[in-house]
Amino acid sequence: MENGSEKKWNFDGKQKQKGSSVSVRGAYNMLMEKVKNRGDKKPLIRLCRVDPTDNPLYRTSLDASQAVATAVHSYNYNSYSPTVGLPDAKRAIANYLSADLPYQLSPENVFITVGGTQAVDIILPVLARPGANILLPRPGYPQYDSRASCCNLEVRHFDLLPERGWEVDLDSLEAVADHKTVAMVLINPSNPCGNVFTYQHLKRVAEVARKLGIFVVSDEVYAHITYGSNPFVPMGVFSSIVPVITIGSLSKRWLVPGWRIGWIATCDPHGIFHKTGLVKNMIDNLEISTDLPTILQAAIPDIIGKTKDDFFVKNLSILRETANKFYDLCKEIPCLTCPNKPEGAMSVLVKINFSQIKDIIDDMDFCAKLAEEESVILLPGVMVGLKNWVRISFAVDPSDIVDGFSRIKAFCLRYAKMS
Ligand SMILES: *Cc1c(COP(=O)(O)O)cnc(C)c1O
Repeated sequence: MENGSEKKWNFDGKQKQKGSSVSVRGAYNMLMEKVKNRGDKKPLIRLCRVDPTDNPLYRTSLDASQAVATAVHSYNYNSYSPTVGLPDAKRAIANYLSADLPYQLSPENVFITVGGTQAVDIILPVLARPGANILLPRPGYPQYDSRASCCNLEVRHFDLLPERGWEVDLDSLEAVADHKTVAMVLINPSNPCGNVFTYQHLKRVAEVARKLGIFVVSDEVYAHITYGSNPFVPMGVFSSIVPVITIGSLSKRWLVPGWRIGWIATCDPHGIFHKTGLVKNMIDNLEISTDLPTILQAAIPDIIGKTKDDFFVKNLSILRETANKFYDLCKEIPCLTCPNKPEGAMSVLVKINFSQIKDIIDDMDFCAKLAEEESVILLPGVMVGLKNWVRISFAVDPSDIVDGFSRIKAFCLRYAKMS
């Protein structure tokens, strides 16, 4: 008989799971360790996360908070929720989305999820089939890559073009697709790029997707967070060309990422999702997943219905101000290039010009040294698929942009090559 110490177990956690290389949180923790190493403490400036809620500037509306309090105090929502969500909440979301569509969504088109994150977690396994692949944007949002590799859905990337305002490179999209491609993902307004796709461009994407025979997953968690010249156009507008799975969330627009309220909406006037079995697969998947707390579902109609416009107007004007400030200050730093002024969402990508700096090997090294020397945290571009760029989140206090960029400027001057 073997004794306890000799017994062999089949699990080996040192064999890394496929696709689970460095996560965004892992990179963040590594950079925070660098900050801790400093002796003299400069106040920390985090331009790396899209969660501005620790700053009172970015506080949700009183109406939204009251909606949750009312749901709690009613004692009517202490039960489990129906699998696909409370009917009133689904109706409220369907009406909210339909205001921007040429047709009316019904509550049956809406599936409530635990944030946009769970919407991604639900959708990708539904699309996964042996040998199937999905097309993801590069740069993109790493949750899609991680989730796809967990469910053995092969990932292929198409490019977004910085020199064309981060539009989809339609040639590269067609080039990577084949008959095993089931869907493509587009994020609009874009995290990490900060652009907002035009009506015309979205229409062309829809036409190419139709030609390829693939569905479009449109991540619109930043819907309506636009403050430049392009208005927000939901992909669902083109769902008579191609069936669209819309992912949404209250996290960003209502400034409540901790409430975890999100959804999947099927925009599909021709009923293709039913015909292909996608809806049934999705419901099966939702049945074995956890639900959004009933209390929060119950609050959705009032959160959406009662929040007044001035709340959104105020938030957009703060974001516009920080985006402008960021763009002006970034232009003063020769080793950084921002190809486009951000017009939507809460982050932007900036290119590091390595021809102008010395003693820094790549974006990870840039962010590590910046954290260690200046206590400024940026996200290395490699985390969103673009090596030697950095992602900057500007949903912060405008003064943090000013202080942060004066430190980044000092840092870049220290590492500048002598000309
Ligand atoms: C924040 C974010 C999500 C996740 O949304 P949550 O509601 O916070 O779970 C999904 N996609 C993108 C592009 C995001 O930025």
